[in-house]
Amino acid sequence: MTAGAGHPPYRGRFAPSPTGALHFGSLIAALASYADARAHAGEWLVRMEDLDRTREIPGAADAILRTLDACGFRWDGPTLYQSRRTHAYAAALERLTELGLTYPCACSRAEIARQVRDGNDCRPAGSRHHTEGPIYPGTCRGGLPPGRPARSIRLRTHPGKIRFHDRIQGDQRQDVAAAVGDFVLRRADGIHAYQLAVVVDDAWQGITQVVRGADLLASTPRQLLLQQALGLPHPTYAHVPLAVDHAGRKLSKSLAAAPVDPADPLPALLRAWTWLGQRPPPTEYALSGFWAHAIRTWSCARVPAIAYACIDPDASASIGT
Ligand code: GLU
Repeated sequence: MTAGAGHPPYRGRFAPSPTGALHFGSLIAALASYADARAHAGEWLVRMEDLDRTREIPGAADAILRTLDACGFRWDGPTLYQSRRTHAYAAALERLTELGLTYPCACSRAEIARQVRDGNDCRPAGSRHHTEGPIYPGTCRGGLPPGRPARSIRLRTHPGKIRFHDRIQGDQRQDVAAAVGDFVLRRADGIHAYQLAVVVDDAWQGITQVVRGADLLASTPRQLLLQQALGLPHPTYAHVPLAVDHAGRKLSKSLAAAPVDPADPLPALLRAWTWLGQRPPPTEYALSGFWAHAIRTWSCARVPAIAYACIDPDASASIGT
């Protein structure tokens, strides 16, 4: 650890999902987290979020790592694969259950959508959805309906605001019970949910600073809640503006998302750098010169405090320049 004496060590991470090649959207998150870590003389780890094997594209994990390497990212220690960490997520879930914070749920997605539509939910109509779908109305909170087997396991949430300061997006607060509801910790297919896995792994890897895309800003209060319940430390958060296409889709979900070219990564790195509000290098640099400039001049304060911005992947050469 290289941080100065008396200061907590800095440890950052990049946590891609192997659902495709490394594209411009994830390059932004990788670059921001890397530059922030190295500018603080910190460590930077890579974690492959490959829990959902049904969404994984074969070969994508290796391709992402090869592209990161070709871009000049250097990570500390071996890559952590979430698919090999099921025991840790199961142990955390057991702990939450011992604390009385979980309950089994029999509802399918279609049933929840119906319950919410039919008003089997005492919340005002406008607050019955959040960005990931309908807010669970709490049907199984008091126990499984007779004869119905458990499908998923949920966290029992309680009203109350979670507050945190995001280094880029500023002060945040969310009442998880009202905004999201009792959220899933283990899905009906037996896969542990991202929210649980990310909290367990950020703590396991000793992450002190999370720098990632702003699509996860609204997930952070759930993660803080789980850290609190499990007695885990809270990292500091910084959410960088997410690149979306003209239809408002995350680039990973857009057909137009071009993979970063490992044979010529500098143009994409320079675009990502200016996207992040950073000063471009004064002269035409090779890769090593870019990185020296990036680590010397990175400033989190220059990153625009916006959650989403539109990018045209075909014309991305002109973005931010
Ligand atoms: N795996 C997530 C993604 O690729 C990132 C999760 C995180 O950084 O917490 O968008």
